[in-house]
Amino acid sequence: MPDGIVYLVGAGPGDPGLFTLKGREVLEKADVVVYDRLVNPSLLSMARPGAEIIYAGKSPAGHTMSQGEINSLLVQRAKSGQVVVRLKGGDPFVFGRGGEEAEALAENNVPFEVVPGVTSAVAAPAYAGIPVTHRDFTSAVAVITGNEDPLKEGSRIAWEKIAFAAGTLVFLMGMANLQVIASRLVEYGRDPRTPVALVRWGTWAEQEVLTGTLADIGERAARADFANPAVIVVGEVAALREKLKWIESKPLFGRRVLVTRAAEQAGELALALRSLGAEVLEFPTIKIIAPEDCGPLDEALAKIDRYNWLIFTSVNGVKFFFRRLFQKGRDIRQLVGLRLGAIGPATRRALENYGLQVDFMPGEYRAEAIAAGLAEKISSGQRILLPRADIARSFLKEALERQGAVVEEVAAYRTVMDGRGRDLVREYFIRGRIHIVTFTSSSTVRNFVNLFDGPDQPRLLAGVGIACIGPVTAETARELGLKVDAVAKEYTVEGLVKAIVERFGRC
Ligand code: SAH
Repeated sequence: MPDGIVYLVGAGPGDPGLFTLKGREVLEKADVVVYDRLVNPSLLSMARPGAEIIYAGKSPAGHTMSQGEINSLLVQRAKSGQVVVRLKGGDPFVFGRGGEEAEALAENNVPFEVVPGVTSAVAAPAYAGIPVTHRDFTSAVAVITGNEDPLKEGSRIAWEKIAFAAGTLVFLMGMANLQVIASRLVEYGRDPRTPVALVRWGTWAEQEVLTGTLADIGERAARADFANPAVIVVGEVAALREKLKWIESKPLFGRRVLVTRAAEQAGELALALRSLGAEVLEFPTIKIIAPEDCGPLDEALAKIDRYNWLIFTSVNGVKFFFRRLFQKGRDIRQLVGLRLGAIGPATRRALENYGLQVDFMPGEYRAEAIAAGLAEKISSGQRILLPRADIARSFLKEALERQGAVVEEVAAYRTVMDGRGRDLVREYFIRGRIHIVTFTSSSTVRNFVNLFDGPDQPRLLAGVGIACIGPVTAETARELGLKVDAVAKEYTVEGLVKAIVERFGRC
């Protein structure tokens, strides 16, 4: 039996970008993942497809699993030889009972490792523009539980010491006791004018910040109904926020955007949206794979020198065309003499990656425009090869034929439904936590609509903004009953991002 092990892993405060590389490495090899309520569930997609995912979150309303049950689960699974990742919000050893879990493992001779995480005690203030230390204001920071009832007989919090323990006091789990915490600090000598900041859902799209002083923060929080999960930052540094706040001014701050394109292609769009402050949830609705029958492509490759033009209408077309060419033991010298066309800049870049320059790219990135633009370049009788998806509109073929060309379409790839993580995305929709859905092709729309098929679809999507990469995709969305809010003017990822910012961005 292989040796079991438990990794106690910090998931960070929420923003998936703050998860550690080591965390990712162990998550990828886990057999079982046991995760908590404040872990961003999108991290779970890093686990391998067959991994067992167990929710151990303790909701404020009802404990789903007792600490004892969690401990024995970890012990048992590791003893049965499994690789267990215990994923905890923030850092595993900053509150959240990671220490107790480690003790249970040690007592039972279960091998374990700790993978620290970015704690909310530091990250939530940082995302609010608050450095927890600063040479001019404080050289110490204390992280304190706000969970203990400060009025309770025998409270372990020594308020007289805490009040001056450090210039900056960061309380976790303290919102229910906020009023008492603030009064106690004043009672024990902190200036009632001391700045206080509350950071709720720090680093998530839901991040909210409320500021005040020890004298008025309790009342302000009550008025704003400001609740957990939040950190309470007490000290002069809290006032620096006015000068240092940064993420809130990003145009897409506070927006959670669903990216539905194929996993390998989602990166560029996700990155662009994140850099504008959005929280991105990647939800691949499609998967790009080789066509069912490679025969026609193989035949075309065998007689490639007989074509005059090779025109690509997508990055995938390029990718799968060359993949097959190489699989057949050939290389790009095979294409000598052929003229190359690309539907748009992304497709052109894909060709350039193979060291190939395009001879033609239309000004407008659509099949319709390609035909019009090429009309001047092709002469009657020229042969054109169009490697493309197995199902694609044949508009381009027809238009080129009208110019007198001899056109052959071959399937270079096909698109199938993906939809990993659907339950999570549904949950997010139900809670109104997805603000914008992006579509980058008609097939992403079709599969998305299929994946959430059912009578509750309109309700799930109520109030959700929909952004499409171009008019064809938008048309498909409308035909399928979606209300389209933004359409890119330039049919590229940059164009889509621009349209999203224009329609949904803060000014
Ligand atoms: N181990 C965690 C803390 C667990 S205790 C860490 O290192 O961050 C849970 C408390 O952490 C919550 O009650 C809240 O006070 C704080 N917390 C966790 N995530 C937070 C977030 N994203 N924003 C603000 N506070 C958060």
